[in-house]
Amino acid sequence: MSQIQTGLLILLLTFLGVVSYNVYLRETTPDEISYTKFMTLLKERKITQVHLKGGTVTGKDTLKRDFISYIPDIPALLPIMEDLSISITAEKDSENLIGFFKSMLPVLLILGGYLIFSKMQKGGQSSFASNKIKTFQPKTDTGITFEDVAGISEARTELLEIVDSLKNPDKLSSLGGYIPKGVLLQGPPGTGKTLIAKAIAGEASVPFYSMGGSDFVEMFVGVGASRVRELFTETKKNAPCIVFIDEIDAIGGKRSGGNASGSNDEREQTLNALLVEMDGFDSDQAVIIIAATNRPDILDPALLRPGRFDRQLTISLPDAKGRLKILNVHTKKIVLAKGTSLSEVARSIPGFSGAEIANLVNEAALMAARKNKKAVEFSDFEEAKDKISLGLERKNVVIDEKDRRLTAYHEAGHAITAKLLPETDPVHKISIIPRGQALGLTQQMPLDDRYTYSREYLINRIKILMGGRAAEEIVFNHQTTGASNDILGATEIARRLVCEFGMSNMIGPIAYMHDQGGFLGNGSTMKPYSEKTAERIDNEIRSIIDRCHSETITLLRENNKFLHKLAEALLVNETVDGEEFDIVHHCYINEKNIEETLKKGNECPI
Ligand code: ADP
Ligand code: ZN
Repeated sequence: MSQIQTGLLILLLTFLGVVSYNVYLRETTPDEISYTKFMTLLKERKITQVHLKGGTVTGKDTLKRDFISYIPDIPALLPIMEDLSISITAEKDSENLIGFFKSMLPVLLILGGYLIFSKMQKGGQSSFASNKIKTFQPKTDTGITFEDVAGISEARTELLEIVDSLKNPDKLSSLGGYIPKGVLLQGPPGTGKTLIAKAIAGEASVPFYSMGGSDFVEMFVGVGASRVRELFTETKKNAPCIVFIDEIDAIGGKRSGGNASGSNDEREQTLNALLVEMDGFDSDQAVIIIAATNRPDILDPALLRPGRFDRQLTISLPDAKGRLKILNVHTKKIVLAKGTSLSEVARSIPGFSGAEIANLVNEAALMAARKNKKAVEFSDFEEAKDKISLGLERKNVVIDEKDRRLTAYHEAGHAITAKLLPETDPVHKISIIPRGQALGLTQQMPLDDRYTYSREYLINRIKILMGGRAAEEIVFNHQTTGASNDILGATEIARRLVCEFGMSNMIGPIAYMHDQGGFLGNGSTMKPYSEKTAERIDNEIRSIIDRCHSETITLLRENNKFLHKLAEALLVNETVDGEEFDIVHHCYINEKNIEETLKKGNECPI
């Protein structure tokens, strides 16, 4: 037998194996359900028993139907399942015959692939690249509309225009206008860029092609470019349609010019191919390329020229109103307890992206399920928020009394500084229950989203951060490592105050920024400065921190009794919320007044 015949035989056997294996699977396996479906069943308490093996969960629901699902993180679900008193059995992830065959499959397929590949090479040409392009499969119905995307009112008109031009291409061209070829959505991760692209396709009912920028770039030079060409041939046939390229910066980063290493070379060829193709097609072909990035600053300017990605929409993190709208969209799927104020939830999560809000709603529902509640309450959102941003409460760890006292005074120091200084955000919650890495926390909640910060606000922020360490020093007269994060935060604010916001008289309003990357405005230019200036900057930062530190010490000393009162309250209750904190404050003020009256009384005897 020649080598090719042997190859064919192996391929045939592999094929038969795969087919019979799939038939076997279909006959013996229970209903496969998605992770989301599994979670829904779990939340609805419709699962009676589960069997765990590796990442696989098999089990029965209340109607005695069998199901199978794959769960990314089983340990995290165990407590919930225990709480719901589901009968759980488990098994070691053992090797049986099927398991062995399954694990052999990739090996077999690689062998098959290798044979085809080597055969092609013998034929003298490699059609490897175009073979892989078959993966461009459009979704005909994304099922997503603008209803599903909330809080993007500014971009809405522009998006509706695009939808309109896809629906009625003739209307636009008769007016002499042209359909946009490229739309660049720029914004931080999780702000709904993918969702918007899907919604445009859904609203216009056109096919939706989706891929990541890095999908184009492979090890082999030339593959990316040929993929781009294939993509355009394919999509032009299906026009009108939407092509979504996520993380365009993977191919559209600035071209280096010069030191082209292997992978850079490939990236540039891919980018060039994309530019050529975008210039090449007529705009009446109605293929709209929507690209997304969170690094617009590193994009090649050639991409942004007219006729290419000439429409650019910035999708920013939602403000309080936007967050409320997104919450409204996502809470449609869950049962909310009466009187749950979503606007309060929205207010308490500044900086959350759409994706994080979706996650928050899901976590809140889980929290409620864990407690066997019928509906999700405000407190569940609170808990979910803290879990997401700080890690789960570790109620069971034993903290020795000395550390508890230290933490109580540390947190009290933060909270009291925040309360006594003007121009600060109200304290929302203080707690000495360990969470994630932290031993305690003090949360402040801004009343509105702030867009600008005054110098006083920033200076007071530094003082609040120093408050923890200051309290430790006053009461215990020593320093601990517990304040390292606070010190980091304080130094960062002081640095930006000096180098970025020009708020230091010593240095003046000159920007000395470092290249930090990240999304927009984080400073990507760097003003070169001399050793001498660097030293002055360092000194200025140091003196700001020192001043804040000593002023905070004075403030806490003057209000020493307040500090003790709050720390005691924390040691007893572990958590003190905003209202309770106000009560402690009132008590303190009253006592102080009484004391002062008494003092005055003593001063002037009859
Ligand atoms: P990006 O592409 O910007 O990283 P995605 O579009 O992938 O973000 O968003 C992830 C998920 O977050 C979405 O599937 C959706 O559930 C939620 N989400 C994000 N933004 C919004 C929004 N504006 N309205 C509703 N849901 C949103
Ligand atoms: Zn602290």
